[in-house]
Amino acid sequence: MKKIVYMDNAATTPVRAEVLAGMLPYFGNDFANPASKYRFASKPYAELDEARVKVASAIGAAGADEIYFTGSGTESDNWAIRGAAFANINKGKHIITTAFEHHAVLETCKNLESHGFEVTYLLPDKNGRINPADVESAIRADTTVISVIFVNNELGVIQPIEEIGRIARSRGVIFHTDAVQAVAHIPVDVVGCNIDLLSLSAHKFYGPKGVAALYIRKGVKIEPIIFGGMQEGNKRAGTHNTPGIIGLGLAIEYGLAEMEAEAERLNKLRSKLVTGIMQGIPFAKLNGSENRAPGVVNISFRFIESESILNLLDFKGICASSGSACNSDSLEASHVLLAIGMSHEEANGTVRFSLGRYNTESDVDYVLEALPPIIEKLRNMSPLYDDFLRGKK
Ligand SMILES: *Cc1c(COP(=O)(O)O)cnc(C)c1O
Repeated sequence: MKKIVYMDNAATTPVRAEVLAGMLPYFGNDFANPASKYRFASKPYAELDEARVKVASAIGAAGADEIYFTGSGTESDNWAIRGAAFANINKGKHIITTAFEHHAVLETCKNLESHGFEVTYLLPDKNGRINPADVESAIRADTTVISVIFVNNELGVIQPIEEIGRIARSRGVIFHTDAVQAVAHIPVDVVGCNIDLLSLSAHKFYGPKGVAALYIRKGVKIEPIIFGGMQEGNKRAGTHNTPGIIGLGLAIEYGLAEMEAEAERLNKLRSKLVTGIMQGIPFAKLNGSENRAPGVVNISFRFIESESILNLLDFKGICASSGSACNSDSLEASHVLLAIGMSHEEANGTVRFSLGRYNTESDVDYVLEALPPIIEKLRNMSPLYDDFLRGKK
């Protein structure tokens, strides 16, 4: 295969070699079901507990028994919001979230609306930040859940989670945060931030896909959404994904150990990429405030479509993504970019590069060499650009 420059680490990351090595025995000799009582199952069982301790310590949880393993970040988000909404239905049916959540949160909220819940979708400002005062004024007597993303996955912008947590706690409302893009990338402290429920997912920090966790603060009422077994304290049924959970534990431990140094390295690479693009390409705009998780670059290129940019980047072996949640048949503009007030035209020309631990300076150089001619070529074929030039003349 020819050269691949992978700059889509916000979509997923590769499993680190050490993590894979740590998982392998549990596909093989140590395959026992950790729920079994014989001694042959005691090693997988002990490792499961070990992983729980690692996750708890990485997010500052008071106890390992507050960590529940799930099958995806999506499941954790579904469980947190749905489970808390139904468990607290006697208090009310009002939920507060934002317009630029991940679809796992947005679609859960939409589904709850069809069950008679009312949802307030707060708008971020143009820099991609939710104002805590807006959260405060949206709270009503019947509000049961507030869900605000920790780090937005398209923009990389860090939200004022500590302030929102303080407000939620003082008003007696359950606070969930989708921290899938935050954990093992920036410091996360569930106790200090008054977080009641927190979602994280292994494959966003060099762990395996299909394994994740939900932090449930002790005392928070939440109903299960998956039934059929006694696993996870009778709260989340299904045979444990033992190798996956062990991989999650290792990945979060390695991630935390190198977090600071890696953030510094990625911020340097990111600056180089941003500076290079802004200097080398006219009519480019960097989106989102500078209070951000390391590595994420979201840039709009006027007059052209991100689909075409990504295709031409792909020919060069460069993997990036559009801001939009396009699938093959819909070309809808990203709800995140629209939420920060961008026009459809501008949103449609947006590309996200997300750097990760396997990117090097030479990757950045490669992109900086490949991108300007791609943008120029597409603009030369763009009727919008032609109109713009004529208008200028
Ligand atoms: C990736 C992601 C999810 C979904 O996690 P999966 O494990 O892929 O289901 C949820 N929220 C955010 C912010 C994400 O980036």
